Amino acid sequence: MKYLLTEEQKMIVDICRKIVDERIVPVRAEMDEKAIFPGEIIKEIAKSDLFRLFIPEEFGGMGTGIFEICLATEELSRGDLSVATTYAASGLGAIPIMISGSVEQKKKYLPQLASGEKLAAFGLTEAEAGSDVGNIRTTALKEKDFYLLNGTKQWITNGGEADIYVIFAMTDPKKGIRGASAIIVEKGIPGFEFGKKEDKLGIRASATRELVFTDCRVPEENILDKEGMGFIIAMKTFDQSRPVVGSQAVGVAQAALEEALGYSKVRKQFGTHISSFQAIQHMLADMAINIEAARALVYHAAKVIDSGEKNISRLSSMSKIFASDMAIKVTSDAIQIFGGYGFMKEYPLEKMMRDAKITQIYEGTNQILRNIIALDMIKRGVI
Ligand SMILES: Cc1cc2nc3c(=O)[nH]c(=O)nc-3n(C[C@H](O)[C@H](O)[C@H](O)COP(=O)(O)OP(=O)(O)OC[C@H]3O[C@@H](n4cnc5c(N)ncnc54)[C@H](O)[C@@H]3O)c2cc1C
Repeated sequence: MKYLLTEEQKMIVDICRKIVDERIVPVRAEMDEKAIFPGEIIKEIAKSDLFRLFIPEEFGGMGTGIFEICLATEELSRGDLSVATTYAASGLGAIPIMISGSVEQKKKYLPQLASGEKLAAFGLTEAEAGSDVGNIRTTALKEKDFYLLNGTKQWITNGGEADIYVIFAMTDPKKGIRGASAIIVEKGIPGFEFGKKEDKLGIRASATRELVFTDCRVPEENILDKEGMGFIIAMKTFDQSRPVVGSQAVGVAQAALEEALGYSKVRKQFGTHISSFQAIQHMLADMAINIEAARALVYHAAKVIDSGEKNISRLSSMSKIFASDMAIKVTSDAIQIFGGYGFMKEYPLEKMMRDAKITQIYEGTNQILRNIIALDMIKRGVI
């Protein structure tokens, strides 16, 4: 959808579309089957300056907003959600540095992320701390001029591939959630190792790994903001990143609709194209309506965030929930339009549905986000 976009925004969409058509679509099935990390495609995305969208101008970025990031992510997701997840997760790792990093930290890390020379990752989840982030057990205990990191993070996107990790750990375990801090950890330092790449239902080409810290010494200057700010930094990061997950869902649903529409015009049964059956037409129409509604909500949330509004948790959560629930329905209906062929791996539909599922889970499950919306409404009323 290119309406109401500026020339610059249309250019972002066109660049992504070219990468999708030329570089992603021809290899996505193989990447999925063999779980191949899309390293070369990520380099191409970097060469096209798309990582600069995440970063302010003074640190080598383009100083655009969440809206432009959503446009790029939506288009990349039309091609392949593993690629889009890899791209968006680097942005997710960069946000804590942007919102709470010192000028020195920003100068050191953001230009490398803007160029795409290095990827970032966001390390919060642990085996016993998924939705319940207050239960993290990884510790970062202060000793002299460093923090001693011990613990294991689970299911971290870009794990092993990224060079810059924002890790959430307890600097004061007695204080519970108020004792959590965010700290930048660079790949390659002693005591920091990776687990195997996870074998997953969907986004199989994206890298999801354990991060293992054993007496890992991280310089004290790597702490973001100050001790005890970890939970707030994590929540502020998600407020900005959740519409981007929404845009992933919109992109994969759009791809499924395009496939289903095309197929309905060539598949013949009872002597006529299945697109002539009203049952099929209505499914296609409903898919288009729901995609457009989700897109509108995602774009609106992104624009509200870019306007500088502070209370964004509710809207940001709504956009992710609506778009991801929509993507599951639309990708499933697209398979229905393909009939049995949709169930086969020769067609991209079953992969789209497998990929879409993650958008309901990561960066806060849709149940947790409904809790956030309800609690915010109870506190601040219906806006
Ligand atoms: C492919 C993949 C990539 C990921 N990437 C990252 C990453 O880069 N960084 C990172 O830190 N994490 C990452 N995660 C982790 C992800 O954010 C968590 O899986 C998610 O937050 C849910 O946690 P959980 O899986 O432990 O589920 P649980 O918290 O155990 O939840 C299980 C079920 O219970 C429900 N539930 C739990 N608590 C409540 C409640 N209070 N009210 C109602 N329902 C509730 C949940 O909605 C869910 O349905 C990734 C996960 C996956 C699968």
